[in-house]
Amino acid sequence: MSSFINIFDQYSWDDIKERIYSKTASDVEAALTKPGRTPDDFMALISPAAAAYLEPMAQLSQQLTLQRFGKTIQLYVPMYLSNECNNICTYCGFSLDNKVRRRTLTATEILQEAEAIKSMGYEHVLLVTGEANHTVHIPYFKNALQLLRPHFAHISMEVQPLDEEDYRELIAGGLHTVLVYQETYHREDYKKHHPKGKKSNFQYRIETPDRLGRAGVHKIGLGILIGLEDWRTDSFFTALHLQYLERTYWQTKYSISFPRLRPFSGGLEPKVDMKDRELVQLICAWRIFNQEVELSLSTRELPKFRDHVMQLGITSISAGSKTNPGGYAVEPESLEQFEIADERSPAEMARVIASKGYEAVWKDWDQAL
Ligand code: SF4
Repeated sequence: MSSFINIFDQYSWDDIKERIYSKTASDVEAALTKPGRTPDDFMALISPAAAAYLEPMAQLSQQLTLQRFGKTIQLYVPMYLSNECNNICTYCGFSLDNKVRRRTLTATEILQEAEAIKSMGYEHVLLVTGEANHTVHIPYFKNALQLLRPHFAHISMEVQPLDEEDYRELIAGGLHTVLVYQETYHREDYKKHHPKGKKSNFQYRIETPDRLGRAGVHKIGLGILIGLEDWRTDSFFTALHLQYLERTYWQTKYSISFPRLRPFSGGLEPKVDMKDRELVQLICAWRIFNQEVELSLSTRELPKFRDHVMQLGITSISAGSKTNPGGYAVEPESLEQFEIADERSPAEMARVIASKGYEAVWKDWDQAL
């Protein structure tokens, strides 16, 4: 069965990195002026040479976003169901070797959390778990979907990669969107950051969007963890991945996220420190490269930064997020997966969005419509 890995294997990390870093001002100018940008143009837009073009990039990105999405920002919130995890990941507070109290929400607790989230106005929830196959497994997910389906119009999941048949079952049970971040496309570094557990299987992870596409999921979210490796090279491979998926599973929608490594209890220092200006450049490059893809920003970023980029290309944001299981109602004090940088409530975020002349969208899609 064909999958993205067949394309990925034709590329060399070092070669791509060298090509990105050797892009010139004229490559950037060509990428900015032509319609229908290629991955090669994307390389120019994320290159160091494009740093001098941030203003025209921001203007073009804003204009393209307004044309496609209008003045709207979608709001979503994560609900952490479990912090149990069998994997060791060097950058995560839930890693197996991190001595924290583990907890998985019961059915009653899931409904308590749902009530708290609904009271904030949300219609879109993202269910998050660690990767613990003995406790957070398909029957657990099916039950969670059954409990939450009557309360939310759109349910996304960020859990362990699953088989195609499992995805089919969950989609039939009310799952709409799956986020599966590759973290890094650098094979050797991927191994270093995932030394133990199922997540150490690079190929199974990189082929997950293929299994989701074949299962017919409504939307797939892609991304890298910025800070693990060279973000420009990793972003190029994400763009290549997205282009392949859009052509192969054209009925599915896609989103891209930009998580930067955040501090957590016992945490890893970023290998690569991405500056705010560079993240703006990356967001604008994505929009100029692809006008259909949703671009999402979480509460990992500071309020000032989020308020600024909201008008440059971002189309969905989270607000009022808790990254611990039971964080909204059941057990607010348990350990977070990572620290939140923007603590503003959803109502405050909606006011900020309105003050910029944008509309906060709490519900953008409903299977019944
Ligand atoms: S990133 Fe996911 S798989 Fe890795 S330790 Fe954290 S919760 Fe577990």
